[in-house]
Amino acid sequence: MPYHEDRSAWFEGQGLWPHVPASDWNDWIWQLKNRLTTAAQLEEHMTLTPDEKAGCLFASQKLALAITPYFFNLIDREDPDCPIRKQVIPRAGEAVISEEEMLDSLGEDEHSPVAGLVHRYPDRVLFLVTDRCAAYCRYCTRSRLVSNAQDYNFHPEYEQGLRYIEQHPEIRDVLLSGGDPLLLSDRKLDHLLSRLRAIKHVEFIRIGSRIPVFLPQRITPELCEIFKRHGPIWISIHTNHPKEATAALSAACERLSFAGVPLGNQSVLLKGINDDPEVMKALVHRLLRMRVRPYYLYQMDLITGGSHFKVDVRKGIEIIRALRGHTTGYAVPQFVIDAPGGGGKVPINPDYVEEITDDEIVFRNYEGDVFRYPLKSTPRKEPVEAGLITVNEPGFAGL
Ligand SMILES: *Cc1c(COP(=O)(O)O)cnc(C)c1O
Repeated sequence: MPYHEDRSAWFEGQGLWPHVPASDWNDWIWQLKNRLTTAAQLEEHMTLTPDEKAGCLFASQKLALAITPYFFNLIDREDPDCPIRKQVIPRAGEAVISEEEMLDSLGEDEHSPVAGLVHRYPDRVLFLVTDRCAAYCRYCTRSRLVSNAQDYNFHPEYEQGLRYIEQHPEIRDVLLSGGDPLLLSDRKLDHLLSRLRAIKHVEFIRIGSRIPVFLPQRITPELCEIFKRHGPIWISIHTNHPKEATAALSAACERLSFAGVPLGNQSVLLKGINDDPEVMKALVHRLLRMRVRPYYLYQMDLITGGSHFKVDVRKGIEIIRALRGHTTGYAVPQFVIDAPGGGGKVPINPDYVEEITDDEIVFRNYEGDVFRYPLKSTPRKEPVEAGLITVNEPGFAGL
């Protein structure tokens, strides 16, 4: 079914919390303190399905339940299939553990020289700086270590992590993640970023965060000043569905962009949420309007209790095929599988190539038509008529 985008319907306002003073509503600490964290709190505002009730019972053993009031407003409480709802309200499927699933599906612990630092690629590290998030995605790749529901007792070792980076000159790229790094206080972030900036071989600093989506109130002018001061800092946000592209998210992205922060987006392909070319097309178009460049579309990691979110990889390929050429290349993310066990991200692409020989490459375009590009250069026998290219015109001097 085509997804109909209503261009004017970027959610605005306080929704279910009309009586809260705007100064509270716009305060990120208020949003955190007033998160919905129990089934009973959810049920004050909506009717949970039996599936969700069962999920909530189990959730406390897997991954804490937490939804900011801001994000809760985006849920369609009348629709059990609401794509926002499925991302943050537990369902019974979380208790179903499949044969193929693993606690640490990306083998991150194995590639971790110090607690909270993953060094899998030659030139870059993933620095997990906190185990807390503003809200918890039910398909979280790091559900084993975030929210502490599984007693993982994750303690990021800042000093050891920083020392490891200092001592490894091959690390030119540091990605802060977690948990959500933007939950750290301004003071802590400022300190962390200045420490990283002081390391000469660190050229590229970026942050992976869903805070702009769950808690846009956190993107304060003060925070933006920190990014400006230590910039360039790149940020990847995480949206999955066009309904997340609200006026508040758009404004937060604008504040970040104007502070000189280049923005990308990572999506996870999720069953019943965005496994539809029309939904993804609406999402990537909204992202571009917010100055966000779609970066990755992930095949979901093999996390325990995640099979109810799993989408056939062929659907992901179909989505990319439906985007490429039909819309601008800026809107097309790279579809990847993070190889189970720790092989890194591997691009999975639609195949446009029909044949490559010594003579030519034969390929199809986005409309399915066949084209040929010769790989050999055969000199013409007839001399090319003079005058086709005039090399002695002013401006062409030296060609
Ligand atoms: C995703 C990831 C990175 C960053 O990968 P890019 O392709 O550079 O965005 C780095 N380290 C680890 C362990 C990762 O999972």
